[in-house]
Amino acid sequence: MKIYNSYTDSLEEFKTFHPKQVNMYVCGPTVYNFIHIGNARPVVFFDTVRRYLESKDYKVKFVSNFTDVDDKIIQKSLEENIPELQLSGYYIEAFLNDLEALNCKTDYIKPKVTEYMQHIIDYIKNLVDMGYAYEINGDVYFRVSKIRDYGALSNREIDDLISGSRVEVNELKENPLDFTLWKKTETGLNFDSPFSVGRPGWHTECVAMIDDIFGEEIDIHGGGTDLKFPHHENEIAQAKATHNHRVANYWMHNGRLDMKDIKMSKSLGNVIFVKDFEYKMPLRYFLLSTHYRAPLNYSEESFAMYIKEWEKLENTYKSLFYKLDIIDELVKGTKVSNQDILDEIKNFNDAMDNDFNTANAITALQGILKITNLNLRKNNNQKILNELFVALNYMVSILGFKIDANPVTDKDRDTYKKWQDARKNKEFDKADEYRKALIEKGIL
Ligand SMILES: [Zn+2]
Repeated sequence: MKIYNSYTDSLEEFKTFHPKQVNMYVCGPTVYNFIHIGNARPVVFFDTVRRYLESKDYKVKFVSNFTDVDDKIIQKSLEENIPELQLSGYYIEAFLNDLEALNCKTDYIKPKVTEYMQHIIDYIKNLVDMGYAYEINGDVYFRVSKIRDYGALSNREIDDLISGSRVEVNELKENPLDFTLWKKTETGLNFDSPFSVGRPGWHTECVAMIDDIFGEEIDIHGGGTDLKFPHHENEIAQAKATHNHRVANYWMHNGRLDMKDIKMSKSLGNVIFVKDFEYKMPLRYFLLSTHYRAPLNYSEESFAMYIKEWEKLENTYKSLFYKLDIIDELVKGTKVSNQDILDEIKNFNDAMDNDFNTANAITALQGILKITNLNLRKNNNQKILNELFVALNYMVSILGFKIDANPVTDKDRDTYKKWQDARKNKEFDKADEYRKALIEKGIL
């Protein structure tokens, strides 16, 4: 299995630190608003990574944080006159609801900054004690010049970084690149520390949490490509200072989702919140239809195709399920032996093994749908239909597609039998009635 490592800019064989165990961390949301469909891309993708690793019998320890201390939260809390914790609590719940609607697993470790304050302060204090950070008037900065290969992840030369627009100019800092670890302030939510009353900068929370939860370098660190600099570069700098490692062996970054070629932003008014988006599963399908490192573009026109693709999947899946279930021929644990089906399963696994190429995995899934439709029309071999159902379930569960097909009841089976008999006996009015009932239940 190969993963593209952003740190080395190359496709590498995946090897874990511990056998059959993957320790992974993904930067989570700053909880002051609902997430939009662009924010859903890393969420859906890394959930799919987890599902695939688990299907390969890895035990996955998955951690993703909530940034619940931040200037934007404080600003909104002051504007709306709601305490910060109440505000962030509301958006944490909304986030978890969106996750469920997108069929992402929610049983992962979710540390919050407010609950990690002592760890964060201790982490910063240690950096100061070791000479990697310095305090000026109650603010604490990281001393970037002490890290020899600073910029290695984002591949930016230090001079480029300095002239980059994202580096704040501050006369008090030793070096313009030095980033804030602690900010002295009494506005909004604040905390006592040996440096001053204030709050931490954004870049320490992830490394402090990883340090506490894993206690060592992890296998995978994920996030959006926009986080490479400065956030991930600064996480790496602190971990190098503290433990002489780069936080994670594999750094994975997903490309951005744009709206008609323009970056989604509230100020431009081109944001679609996940909670308001009607097509949750087609959205998941759309997000996985392009390789995660490639940029993705949303427009209503292009999305219409994914709604259709989703419906095809849903309809074929349900037809197959009902066909097997209604005549009681659904055999659990069927072993796949048909060569065409085996080939598509192999294509699927090869795609996922090659840097989680979900685009090609979906092509294999479509291959299975094609064989399924052919066999459903020919109405033949129950064994092949069962094998197809096994293959379909395998792919659908790794991609995290949720299809609601209610199990068939005895009454449904009875209706089905009556419909078949009525047809045989040429009682067309009766047959029509039964047929209608079966269609209503979604069985036909
Ligand atoms: Zn982070």
